[in-house]
Amino acid sequence: MTASPDWLKDKKARLERKNTFDGSLVLGTAKFNKETGRDIQTLQPFKGLIDPDTGLIRPDMVRPRNCPVCDEAPGPGLFVKDGFRHVRCPSCGLIYVSLILREDVMIQYWREEIAWTSVLRSSPQMEMDRIKFGYGLDVAEAYLPPELPRELLDIGAGTGGFVKLAVERGWKSTAQELNLESSESLAREAVEVIVKPLELAELPPHSFSLVTLWEVLEHLAEPKVLLSHASRLLRDGGLLLILVPNVGSLVSRILHEKSHTFGGHSHLNHFDANSLPAILDVAGFAILEMETVLTELGTINNHLDFQDPYLGDAPAFTPLFTPELIHDKLWGSRLLALARKKSVS
Ligand SMILES: [Zn+2]
Repeated sequence: MTASPDWLKDKKARLERKNTFDGSLVLGTAKFNKETGRDIQTLQPFKGLIDPDTGLIRPDMVRPRNCPVCDEAPGPGLFVKDGFRHVRCPSCGLIYVSLILREDVMIQYWREEIAWTSVLRSSPQMEMDRIKFGYGLDVAEAYLPPELPRELLDIGAGTGGFVKLAVERGWKSTAQELNLESSESLAREAVEVIVKPLELAELPPHSFSLVTLWEVLEHLAEPKVLLSHASRLLRDGGLLLILVPNVGSLVSRILHEKSHTFGGHSHLNHFDANSLPAILDVAGFAILEMETVLTELGTINNHLDFQDPYLGDAPAFTPLFTPELIHDKLWGSRLLALARKKSVS
């Protein structure tokens, strides 16, 4: 195994690096949200499908599902937001959406979606993401067994910021992306792009040394199936780098359904520091590292000041909430984990 570089063990250095891609710390919450276009794109795209009698998405547009981690039937509801019922699994504790959009509706949405893609293409977002991607790749490279070639697969590559950075750093990179606009632009960049679901891509097993999932697992009806595919595609000793929203974050615990992380048309699974390792374990991965990134401190302060959480300009409510405390407690708004494919012996 590669020896970990010193900065991996230097908590202060890592915190300082994390703060440089925390958009709300760097630019201020309202400025970051406006300049990336988040203030416009958060409108619910499936409003027209809500049945006025029940307040839920019309039954002909949805399909039921059990807990995507442990297959238990749904527990009591936590809340309904934009027509989608959010529940907590009585067995494993996962928070998830129990009636999700029909598969064809969902696939069409992902192919044609442009609002979120425009947020990803905004210059402040691309700047923050590039630093974030560099941080993640540094962590992965520190653990990459030296005998493995630098070949990666980025699943749900979006606008391709990560893949382009990886290519610059000498990785042979393949991108998988369903969105038409994003996949066309990736192909123009001469990146190898797979424009179909991974299970239909017929990639040979043991093809990659690193698989990356940047904000993908929360969108999937069957996250375990995708993780099993990822495991098969990895060489022995290969790595999985994964970033997901953290439902155990301070911002989600304070805002509950007001948090933008809850958007049931798209965010189907809400992992925390317990359920993410649990699903990775079931899918054949052992966690090497897990931390949080992005504080959403400004969002928290705005809410505690009775302002719009995403567009307010409140001063710090209490000096007790610091990036250091938030990440120490794994209360940041995203979980970043690196895992190794478990050997089958
Ligand atoms: Zn469960």
